[in-house]
Amino acid sequence: MKAVAVFPHEREIRLIDQPEPRLKGGRDVKVRILDVGVCGTDKEICAFHYGFPPEGSDHLVIGHEAIGEVVDVGSEVKGFKPGDLAVMTVRRPCPHDNCPSCKEWRQDFCYTGDFVERGIKQRHGFMTEYVLDHERYMLPVPKSLRDIAVLIEPLTIAEKALIEVWQVQQRLPWSCPSANGKNKPGHCHHAVVLGAGPIGLLGAMAFANAGFSTFVYSREDEDSEKARLVRSFGATYVSAEKTPVEQLVDRVGTIDVVYEATGASRLSFDVLKQCGPNAAFVFTGVPGLKGPASVDTDFIMRQMVLRNQVLLGTVNAGRDAFEAAIRDLGEFKQRWPDAIRKIITGRFPVESYREQLLGTAGIKNVIAFG
Ligand code: BGC
Repeated sequence: MKAVAVFPHEREIRLIDQPEPRLKGGRDVKVRILDVGVCGTDKEICAFHYGFPPEGSDHLVIGHEAIGEVVDVGSEVKGFKPGDLAVMTVRRPCPHDNCPSCKEWRQDFCYTGDFVERGIKQRHGFMTEYVLDHERYMLPVPKSLRDIAVLIEPLTIAEKALIEVWQVQQRLPWSCPSANGKNKPGHCHHAVVLGAGPIGLLGAMAFANAGFSTFVYSREDEDSEKARLVRSFGATYVSAEKTPVEQLVDRVGTIDVVYEATGASRLSFDVLKQCGPNAAFVFTGVPGLKGPASVDTDFIMRQMVLRNQVLLGTVNAGRDAFEAAIRDLGEFKQRWPDAIRKIITGRFPVESYREQLLGTAGIKNVIAFG
């Protein structure tokens, strides 16, 4: 079967032929891959800045955003049957007995750093025709989401962030109704999303759907296609071209939450300086290491203390975030069917892998196997 693999030593990306996996354990599920999304991490791996082949292998099969159809199940599998749609999680636990998070199957919070990630770190990924995994690492997906289900994995980043934001804001012992009428802790209803790539746009939809007044701050101008897309699901688009960071508060009002989806550290710290009382700021980007930059540490520390602010980093994701992403995608599809479809720029045959992995066009390009 076909697979897209990166050979870091040769600095090559190739379409390879590899044997189809066969059921081994009683709880194994075999999936025929339908769609695989291409993301920034894949592009970093293909530029040889990131990504590690499994031990003893000279290559890594990439791909970690995937949706597939179950074709075969082991004798003890309870949650799946052939014909079901399934999404695979990415991280697998580290082998250490003293890692409490991995022992609880929360490898997204691994302490040792020895976790592995399919398609990224020491485990082959999903950009291939068939994959096999333990049912524990898969979730069933309603068939009605087939056309957009490839967006589940990137959406889990925002879902985990939202779960954490609500947990953090439990510290504020009052509640007030948010835009969707649901009472939530604290008064954290103005969210700023930094960046209008797929992670930012899906995050903005998740925040808007959760009742935040949501503002997307990005480079494109205010009548760009992305700006229109943002407005079509009820969020406000603010162009960095027109509104410098120092004036962001004039457009947004008090900034209660920031969901960073750019990987631009400089911009992030500039926005952190604009955050309001009791704000929560969430980092999700993984910037390239470009060397030290100067920031006003006294100002930031002083303000974070005097305003009770929280800064947190998050990497996806546990089953709870996957479940939330599946639920929310269903809601997005009902509320904003055109907007959610527009996040997927196009579906392309696997033979065009080079263009998709090395190019920059589009929001979310998808390699379609099915
Ligand atoms: C993936 C995560 C992964 C992270 C770092 C992201 O693109 O979605 O699952 O943990 O990269 O490797």
